[in-house]
Amino acid sequence: HRNKSAAFPDERERTLIAIKPDGVQRRLVGQIMQRFEQRGFKLVGLKMLQVSEDLLSQHYCELRTKPFYPSLLDYMSSGPVVVMVWEGHKVVQTSRTMVGHTNPAEAQAGTVRGDFSFHVSRNVVHASDSPEGAQREIQLWFQSKELLKWECCDQTITCEDA
Ligand code: UDP
Repeated sequence: HRNKSAAFPDERERTLIAIKPDGVQRRLVGQIMQRFEQRGFKLVGLKMLQVSEDLLSQHYCELRTKPFYPSLLDYMSSGPVVVMVWEGHKVVQTSRTMVGHTNPAEAQAGTVRGDFSFHVSRNVVHASDSPEGAQREIQLWFQSKELLKWECCDQTITCEDA
């Protein structure tokens, strides 16, 4: 009998990914979601919303003293955002790699920011930067009933060793 959770204790790790207003305006939602799907991660929450200033100030509370903070809040509230929760082994770290450097000018080609953006103030996507940060952000953006438990039929292929 193989113990799946012993082999992959963090298989249920979760991260929050948000497609920012520029990504939505530029019709990049499908292409960005596709990258997470094809990597093998599981989508467990998804919604589109116009973000309130209250939510944004909580989300970016650590940046409130930065000079770019007011323009960041303007940008993030300039239009709807698509926010998602993705689940899988080391999904936080892997998503940060997939999203690329905060400043798109330094982001590698092949990353979301490296392929779709060139300026730090319009960098298309957000990804949680640690498992603790992800937990905090998921609780902030989603109610627990909005996160779905479901079995991916290919889970034994994408998540287990042979
Ligand atoms: N940001 C900005 N100017 C900067 C640095 C950051 O406008 O000089 C914005 C940018 O949208 C970035 C967000 O603030 O994604 C949050 O910054 P953080 O350092 O947390 O980077 P991230 O975790 O998003 O890569």
